[in-house]
Amino acid sequence: MFYTEPVVTVLSRPSFTEPSHLPVNWLGESTDGERLAEFAGRLCYMSQRNPANRSTRDYLENIKRQGHGSVLEHANYSLLLEGVSRSLTHELVRHRAGFAYSQLSQRYVDESEANFVVPPAIVGDEALLAAWREQVEGAQRTNVQLVDQLMTRYGWVADRVHRRKMAREAARGVLPNSTETKIVVTGNARAWRTMLELRAGEGAEQEIRRMAVAVLRVLQAEAPAFFCDFEVYQAEDRREAARIGYHKV
Ligand SMILES: Cc1cc2nc3c(=O)[nH]c(=O)nc-3n(C[C@H](O)[C@H](O)[C@H](O)COP(=O)(O)OP(=O)(O)OC[C@H]3O[C@@H](n4cnc5c(N)ncnc54)[C@H](O)[C@@H]3O)c2cc1C
Repeated sequence: MFYTEPVVTVLSRPSFTEPSHLPVNWLGESTDGERLAEFAGRLCYMSQRNPANRSTRDYLENIKRQGHGSVLEHANYSLLLEGVSRSLTHELVRHRAGFAYSQLSQRYVDESEANFVVPPAIVGDEALLAAWREQVEGAQRTNVQLVDQLMTRYGWVADRVHRRKMAREAARGVLPNSTETKIVVTGNARAWRTMLELRAGEGAEQEIRRMAVAVLRVLQAEAPAFFCDFEVYQAEDRREAARIGYHKV
């Protein structure tokens, strides 16, 4: 299978339970994650009465404007990313602060039927696609042959699971950067903002930029107050990018 778009699935979102002894005078529409962040912010000044009569979304807009983004760290979102390449995840996992990752293992998982991600610049050009396919399919065939040969070579290793791991970890060396992978990414809203600012920007590599724009849309639907200052636009290279309103809150 050849992916031309990432698949983003929400696995988990915040669940907020208001303590009955510290009720907040909530105003306006909001989601649990947004209320959690507002509650945390208001606790600092014990302003649960909401003297300025701010809606949750106005309150959080002000938090971003003032750069008090630490309250956004209470709200975590877990996403499953599929249809992304190993080269994308190699870049993604550089984002450390506030993120957790769990990724498909090429040592434990049989990659003989691996899928691949078509690099965005190749999508739509039949000649380029054919040249690229020839290479990735050849690499996959070699990978399968190497696993078989290595299983024979290390036949003296009694533990079959260990032997297979030895074979796969060596054979995967020929799999290309375009090999599809799956990764669970958990991040707090502040961390997601920083990553999206860097990776949805025009300077980012095309595939991770496409993923960042897709993730941004998902998170904007989950919690508009955290992500509404991002603007998606058509860049000069005729691809989507996003710019942020408040840099590094
Ligand atoms: C367009 C683009 C091109 C890139 N090209 C390359 C490249 O050629 N080679 C390469 O190696 N990488 C490259 N990178 C990756 C880049 O160098 C960062 O590793 C990546 O963007 C993660 O950024 P970060 O460290 O700010 O993120 P995070 O690790 O999520 O950190 C977020 C913020 O927390 C703070 N922080 C985190 N850890 C520390 C710490 N240990 N000490 C102090 N403060 C900390 C910093 O303020 C940091 O900005 C590129 C990134 C982009 C967006």
